[in-house]
Amino acid sequence: MDQFDFNNQRVLMRVDFNVPLDDKHNITDDTRIRKAVPTIQKIMEAGGAVILMSHLGRPQKKLKEDGTVNVEKFTLRHIVPHLSKVLDTDVQFASNCFGAEAKSKSFLLNPGQVLLLENTRFHKEESKGEEIFAAGLAQCGDIFINDAFGTAHRAHASTTVVASHFKPEQKGFGLLMKTELANADRVLNSPARPLTAILGGAKVSDKIKLLDRLTELCQNIIVGGGMAYTFAKAAGGTVGNSLCEDDYLELANEIVAKAKSNGVDLYLPTDTVIADDFSNSANTKIVPTGEIPDGWEGLDIGPETRERFAKVIKNSKTILWNGPQGVFEFDNFAHGTDAIANAVAAATDNGAYSLIGGGDSVAAINKAGLGDQVSFISTGGGAMLEYLEGKTLPGVKAITG
Ligand code: AMP
Repeated sequence: MDQFDFNNQRVLMRVDFNVPLDDKHNITDDTRIRKAVPTIQKIMEAGGAVILMSHLGRPQKKLKEDGTVNVEKFTLRHIVPHLSKVLDTDVQFASNCFGAEAKSKSFLLNPGQVLLLENTRFHKEESKGEEIFAAGLAQCGDIFINDAFGTAHRAHASTTVVASHFKPEQKGFGLLMKTELANADRVLNSPARPLTAILGGAKVSDKIKLLDRLTELCQNIIVGGGMAYTFAKAAGGTVGNSLCEDDYLELANEIVAKAKSNGVDLYLPTDTVIADDFSNSANTKIVPTGEIPDGWEGLDIGPETRERFAKVIKNSKTILWNGPQGVFEFDNFAHGTDAIANAVAAATDNGAYSLIGGGDSVAAINKAGLGDQVSFISTGGGAMLEYLEGKTLPGVKAITG
């Protein structure tokens, strides 16, 4: 951002404005918009005209009966009033991100003005990374700035291919993207130790690559949430109706073995809160994790586990947290996740660096009211996961080459 002279330039900026909307198209959480504001404002103040492009939802997966996209539901026009308010300027809108309207409106902008282009995913060429479509998008800017970390793992036209139409000195990262990468790199490249990763959430299959990588990076790995039952069954335990991926039993054991041979301490739950129904009002019991009877399922880590995990977390200098420890959406099964959130906040207060990545752990820490007591909360769920796994993100490579 510091290397550009934005004055009198049209700056095409990929943002992630994929915000949740209610039935009346009101924004229910504007975090993603607010996170993009510093970069937009910086360009405006430097005399650049900002042309914003983003996707919203998955319109191609939810076509209307006549086969056309549902413009009413997925139009980015819904966010223009709020964006105008946040930026304190009248944001203009182009009803198609591709073609004459977008291009001419981009040329007519004065320095400091902002134009929002319609949903890039109204065109099926977007997800296919279609070259001609990307070239059309590129005509809306003299400089390309990518600030959409949340979609950097997609090789789509507006996130990746578009960058090939700009020379190296005409393209760069926005402030959000730069911050996200710097925080992930801090964990990956130069963590203060001990480094502890806390994983949870539903499935081992979603996080097996990350787990594998973490056995090479961490001193401690904590595994809770639904993932833990695959490990419990792999170790010979019974898990009743708990979430369990039988196809991953062998891989779970391989992770345990790899952690051991690398000298990594892998912590698994020893007690579990089980329920006789998947509901907040289910009957509950606390049992050893590998002794869950039929008809019951584990929905949270037990009190002994919470204490063990919290102790490890509080002794850590760097903490990476991805995934809730139980079904935190039900208040009665949020205690384990809350205990972990509190331990992460306490460790941070004590000087540790903590990165919270992945959609549900972000929701969980915010639900616990501790969002402002951790070091960094990532906006990029899947993108952060893939970056931590060690993958090169296409949206990043398109800029760095
Ligand atoms: P993920 O997106 O993989 O991080 O998964 C998050 C989801 O995992 C949340 O919706 C949680 O409710 C769910 N989850 C966490 N623990 C359990 C569990 N023990 N049983 C079922 N679902 C769980």
